[in-house]
Amino acid sequence: MKPTVLVTGGAGYIGSHAVLSLKQQGYQVVILDNLSGGHKDLVETVLDVEFVVGDTSDRPLLDKLFQTYKIDAVMHFAAYIAVGESVEQPGKYYDNNVGGTLTLLEAMVAAGVKKLVFSSTCAIYGPPDEVPIPENHPKRPISPYARSKWMVEQILEDFDRAYGLKSVRFRYFNAAGADPEGRLGEDHYPETHLIPLIIQAALGHRDSIYIFGTDYDTPDGTCIRDYIHILDIAQAHILGLEYLMQGGDSDAFNLGNGQGFSVREVIELAKTVTAQEIEVIEKPRRAGDPPTLVGTGDRAKQVLGWKPEYADLEQILAHAWAWHQKRHGRKNADATPAALASSAS
Ligand code: UDP
Repeated sequence: MKPTVLVTGGAGYIGSHAVLSLKQQGYQVVILDNLSGGHKDLVETVLDVEFVVGDTSDRPLLDKLFQTYKIDAVMHFAAYIAVGESVEQPGKYYDNNVGGTLTLLEAMVAAGVKKLVFSSTCAIYGPPDEVPIPENHPKRPISPYARSKWMVEQILEDFDRAYGLKSVRFRYFNAAGADPEGRLGEDHYPETHLIPLIIQAALGHRDSIYIFGTDYDTPDGTCIRDYIHILDIAQAHILGLEYLMQGGDSDAFNLGNGQGFSVREVIELAKTVTAQEIEVIEKPRRAGDPPTLVGTGDRAKQVLGWKPEYADLEQILAHAWAWHQKRHGRKNADATPAALASSAS
């Protein structure tokens, strides 16, 4: 029988896609999610797995959970993720992302669960010395969000040395897109990410899209990012899990497509995909944003056999567009967002 996996943050954007992929590939899944950003309706209607509502910082709950279910490994997605907010409220990020993770790790060790796939970020590198960024690039995170993820990576190395807890850390570039069948997708509130915000503008749910910073040292002055499909990220997590189950040593892998797109380029392509005009307003830089983040998934391909299936940004945007139309509809369309949400399947 395939392993039983505890997925923290399994009701959220990346976690829910990982749960769907795990389920489709025959794994048993238990979700732990405090619903601060996750969607109960999607867990119930689409994922249909064991679901525990709670925090990773709740040690008694974790102990009970490890006693109740025979957990073989953990995928840890639960975290706050907004770079700008982390600059304004650093304590919130260190408390949840670092403190909550520490409690989870201690509960794992106590329960004898010693395999973890961790959701890290390419933001731990900070402004890069070279592009594409290799995994051994110096780590100079410039936001509390990114620092919280890098701190956890270092804690994981210590837990390996002390307790033999093996981890695979995935440093994703920009997660984007949605389940191609439209069952799941990105739905943050408030939304801070570029692609869903552009799509909200295309759907008429916002008047315009802001470009944060047009004076970066990049060809068109806007930030460059490497967008990676959510299902390719989900599949990498399953390969990372299999690698650990087969006795693989702790390691860290970038997940990127090796191709960068500027904010302006993403907006232009989104106009084509959605066939909508989108009003753009130029704003000052957003705190905590490195100018360029691009990386390959070469090590993940070599070591884990990862094969990204949806590397094309146009396809990523098309999947996101289809999901957002289904979930939220167009402004003033007949179906209300709530009606669409409750019918999402
Ligand atoms: N961005 C933007 N306008 C927005 C949201 C984001 O110009 O409304 C920019 C942001 O400054 C960054 C890029 O788009 O350069 C990607 O930001 P996002 O928040 O999607 O992901 P991040 O790279 O912060 O993880």
